[in-house]
Amino acid sequence: MTIRPSSDDDESPLEGGHEHAGEVPGPLGTPSPWCNVCGRDSIPGSYLCPECWRLMHRVESRRDEQGNPRHPDRPARLNALRAQWDPMIEAFRCFYSDIPLVTEPGHRRSATWEHRTPRDELSVVLVADLVNKMKGDMTDPEFRRLVAGLARRFAGGVFDEDDFPPEKRALPGR
Ligand SMILES: [Zn+2]
Repeated sequence: MTIRPSSDDDESPLEGGHEHAGEVPGPLGTPSPWCNVCGRDSIPGSYLCPECWRLMHRVESRRDEQGNPRHPDRPARLNALRAQWDPMIEAFRCFYSDIPLVTEPGHRRSATWEHRTPRDELSVVLVADLVNKMKGDMTDPEFRRLVAGLARRFAGGVFDEDDFPPEKRALPGR
């Protein structure tokens, strides 16, 4: 099955040039013979291969405060895809654990979009689904501090309560 960007996709190219698909990769959205992320063959008329296209358009399960679907920042996603693609293994690596990710959803290693800073679309990185679930709604520094604190305790130390992230809302009765 070939996945093609549908014409009713909400993504409009940021730059023109559809009719001038050239020899060199163009700006975001400009069709290219090879994928602008991994260099493999692009979907005809696109700048991404099928795998990278699926990741670029992967819908986030989390919603914003109003319960609406998030609108991803495509250039930020493209930057993350490029940074996390490892050509040696032809796979993306998890931002936090560095393990190779799988594109197919539904696995612990599945590539998921994570905001290092919650709600900041520019802070997106690809993270293994399991790590994403562990991070929850913590910020990047909160997550690192909690994990390090837990690791100390697992190694026989004492957990410092200050390593537990602050509540987002007041606890009941306080
Ligand atoms: Zn690709």
